[in-house]
Amino acid sequence: MADDCLKMEHTTPQEFQWSWGKNIHDNKPKSYSGSWSDFCQFLDEHRTARKGLDYFSSVFGGDKRRSDANALPRLWMPFDVDCAMTDYQAKELVGLFSLFKCLFYETASSKPGARRLRFVAQLSRPVSDFEAKRIGEVFEGFWQVGKFDSSVCTAAQPIYLPPTDAKILRFSGRVIDPDFLFGFLRFKKAKLEKTIAYKNTETPDAYEFFSQNGLIKCSTGSALKVRCPWVDEHSTSNEDGTAYFEPSVENNFVGGFICHHHHCDGRTIKDVFELMKRGGKWD
Ligand SMILES: [Zn+2]
Repeated sequence: MADDCLKMEHTTPQEFQWSWGKNIHDNKPKSYSGSWSDFCQFLDEHRTARKGLDYFSSVFGGDKRRSDANALPRLWMPFDVDCAMTDYQAKELVGLFSLFKCLFYETASSKPGARRLRFVAQLSRPVSDFEAKRIGEVFEGFWQVGKFDSSVCTAAQPIYLPPTDAKILRFSGRVIDPDFLFGFLRFKKAKLEKTIAYKNTETPDAYEFFSQNGLIKCSTGSALKVRCPWVDEHSTSNEDGTAYFEPSVENNFVGGFICHHHHCDGRTIKDVFELMKRGGKWD
């Protein structure tokens, strides 16, 4: 455990890089590299006099032209809210981002009562455009109010620098860990599937059947060693090799049954349900 922590601390996945273009027609923006602080300072010192002028974006490989094919994954990502927010909504969103290592500023068209904010957050590893979009989705889930503009998730997209009069505020929270967030998405999906399964299926309670008929021998986790309901058909008197599985994500919340005896070949939990339907009781 301690070793893992050490390893992570000493692994710098990639240099922090960005590029700067003088205006929207500048297709060969200049590359820069440095620390997160250097990046923040750069944005502060390279403000744009009006919308449509200077921009920053990912750095570009190949012939260095700004294009999706040349764009290199970046260690930061912008979050632009898709619509104007009330002052209260903006405050809430700032509260959410204050937990992370990021900066934010109001964009050129922001005004009281109709706020437009841009956040730029540091990432623990470079991400693809697809991954950036998914990170945006996770934050939409946290915020539960609006959506983020997905075009800025594209590494080649020019992002306008702060207006000359904008305040740039910085938060020193946690660096966003994309893999942690994707784990969270998987958990949410599993939870959703579980809800659907509970809503849409009427799985008979096989546990009750095994229990009421005294067939449970012992349980290990979600798998229970049981006595086979068809034990009389087995060619040996050996009662091992039969298990019942409680409903879970793995079996789509239906439960599972397996018996390794030859005569039970191909029998599944559905056969147990059939048996329950026919009499409920087994003897
Ligand atoms: Zn059997």
